Amino acid sequence: MTCKEAFREISNYLDGELGDDLRQELEAHLKLCRKCEVVLDTTRKTIELYCDGKLFPLPAGVRERLHQALRRKWKAEAV
Ligand SMILES: [Zn+2]
Repeated sequence: MTCKEAFREISNYLDGELGDDLRQELEAHLKLCRKCEVVLDTTRKTIELYCDGKLFPLPAGVRERLHQALRRKWKAEAV
């Protein structure tokens, strides 16, 4: 799995939407790749921040925008 593929699957992974094969591939990649590990960590922490604040349920669309912002950031860094 490449970083690009891993990154694409991270939000699905956090949503628990990955199939077993893909999840295992992603986890194997994350063990070896510090960069993707950081992306996963950042994404998860940001989502947890929203979820912990129970008062502010994550509005529809915000999560997707967050993922898009992270994707752009990642793309910029990858160039
Ligand atoms: Zn990677």
